[in-house]
Amino acid sequence: MFSNFHTHTVFCDGADSPEELVLEALRLGCPEIGFSGHSPLEEDTGSMSDQRVLEYCTEIRRLQTKYSGRIRILLGVELDIFSRLDRSLFDYVIGAVHYVKKDGRMLAVDESREGFLDAVERFYGGDYYALAEDYYALVAALPEKTGCDVIAHFDLITKYNEGDALFRTDHPRYLAAADTALDRLLQASPRPLREVNTGAMARGWRTEAYPERRILDRWLSGGGELILSSDCHDRRNLLYAFDQYESIPHVETLC
Ligand SMILES: [Zn+2]
Ligand SMILES: [Zn+2]
Repeated sequence: MFSNFHTHTVFCDGADSPEELVLEALRLGCPEIGFSGHSPLEEDTGSMSDQRVLEYCTEIRRLQTKYSGRIRILLGVELDIFSRLDRSLFDYVIGAVHYVKKDGRMLAVDESREGFLDAVERFYGGDYYALAEDYYALVAALPEKTGCDVIAHFDLITKYNEGDALFRTDHPRYLAAADTALDRLLQASPRPLREVNTGAMARGWRTEAYPERRILDRWLSGGGELILSSDCHDRRNLLYAFDQYESIPHVETLC
């Protein structure tokens, strides 16, 4: 009886229509499903345009009516910290950092491995910890900037770092940057939920969900709450690896 509130459709960079995802959720016996299309962002080809956002909202509201009584459908958005969008259109907001800004340039941290390595080399002189400091400063600001209900993929910059291939996640500078952001999120009021996000596992980049276990434990011991998500871009992954994480304390619903 799992539900997923972090899903993408053909309205942004997902493979399926919203209705196909609803049908898959019904087939799996999910009591609820939430949609979280990417908010408009000029630099991001996988995001929705302003016009597309309106079409997306209309379609999700149509499905809410059509499937009323069979499944609870929520209209959300994955709001990038650099995007401007009226949050009152949505039932909930997932706040996310996909870029850092350096020397006036927007650098994607999760678009491609090559792009990520190149950005760190050219704009940070190969210093991954300097990038981590910039990235986590943005993550810490998510509640204030986006008013989000959920923090997406907390340690997204580790997407291409399986086995610490690029940098050490026990390095003092990495620990300081991540833990400072984590502590600020714990102090936010209202405090957002955090995801256990299996998206990079589904795509073969990681063997564990975001965030890494150390961060997850620290969040829980600080009184933070978690919600399971697959960051679904393909309906075959709607509940990807949820069974591996069901024993971790988590909330089952939003709103
Ligand atoms: Zn995201
Ligand atoms: Zn997403």
